[in-house]
Amino acid sequence: MAAATGNMCVDGGDTAAKRKREEFSWEEKSSRKKLKGSAEGDGGGDLFDALPDDIVHSILCKLSSTAGCPEDFINVLITCKRLNSLGLQPMVLSKSSHKMLAIKAKNWSESARRFLVRCVESGSVEASFILGMILFYCFQNRGEGVALIAKAAITSHAAALYSLAVIQFNGSGGSKNNKDLRAGVALCSRAAFLGHVDAMRELGHCFQDGYGVSRNIMEGRRLLLQANARELALVITATPGAVVPRAWLRWSPHRHLQGPLMSDFGCNVPAAETHPANQFLYDWFSSPGREPGPDLRLCSNSGCGRPETRMHEFRRCSVCGTVNYCSRACQALDWKYKHKADCGPHNSGAAINRYGDLNALINLNEDDAAIAI
Ligand SMILES: [Zn+2]
Ligand SMILES: [Zn+2]
Repeated sequence: MAAATGNMCVDGGDTAAKRKREEFSWEEKSSRKKLKGSAEGDGGGDLFDALPDDIVHSILCKLSSTAGCPEDFINVLITCKRLNSLGLQPMVLSKSSHKMLAIKAKNWSESARRFLVRCVESGSVEASFILGMILFYCFQNRGEGVALIAKAAITSHAAALYSLAVIQFNGSGGSKNNKDLRAGVALCSRAAFLGHVDAMRELGHCFQDGYGVSRNIMEGRRLLLQANARELALVITATPGAVVPRAWLRWSPHRHLQGPLMSDFGCNVPAAETHPANQFLYDWFSSPGREPGPDLRLCSNSGCGRPETRMHEFRRCSVCGTVNYCSRACQALDWKYKHKADCGPHNSGAAINRYGDLNALINLNEDDAAIAI
């Protein structure tokens, strides 16, 4: 009897608990509906569904701006319908970082292009720059490409300003008569002011050589020194000492065997990260069957990837004649990075002095070393 009562109590308790669970479940569902607004039905019933849209939206904005690669973001989009629709909203896509948009050249497809276009339409400055570079150089769509790069440049996107400067200096996409050195210097100055290292280096050489601007050797030296210092600061920020040992900061007598940066100061600093747009160009034109075209050459600085848009557009090393550069910045950087060791007569002072094109580089190295001491 006691057992029966007990069972009854248990049964009675179970029934009450069941009723409570049902009531709670109903309240939970109705509150979810309120939170989700127009969201459909009762969903899967997990806690994620209970999160209000604005919180999910804000998490996706954060993810879009901090994702380390496109997969980090796309994997979230394909998780469920809700994340997909919220993740593709303009506010989320407008925050996309350059790493999130770092589409690999081997993965280029119509859907990749559509995704970039959607990001551009959402207001992503990075997407404007990357898609502009791809259209301009890879698909020879000069008009649309340069318009997209300019769209990024007017929002003070430093890499876009510098790329427009390179286009102006070279008259890329047009003839030799389309070169506009003054416009190139003006764009470079703006990018250098924003801290773009290549632009500082380019402008430094322009001042030293009087190229597109009145010659001012001291201003040139100042900019080149500033470019080195800025580069060092960026590398230190990107590689915390706790993670990467800073052995490269130690002085070494074998300068020519060290990395490209700060080599004038006897420091071996790792190369800075390549922008995804430049990496895309480099990978694209390195793929079989995608070479720039007959008699067109790639910039020999591997972190650049720019091809010539007409014959003999780029400067060539007058000593060995085997390397070509889109800009003085690429020439100087590649000289420090590897060409100094590869170029045939580079260790002969007489040979260097005979070739005017290299004089600026040689002087730069000597001058910077003198300033450092
Ligand atoms: Zn280059
Ligand atoms: Zn050479």
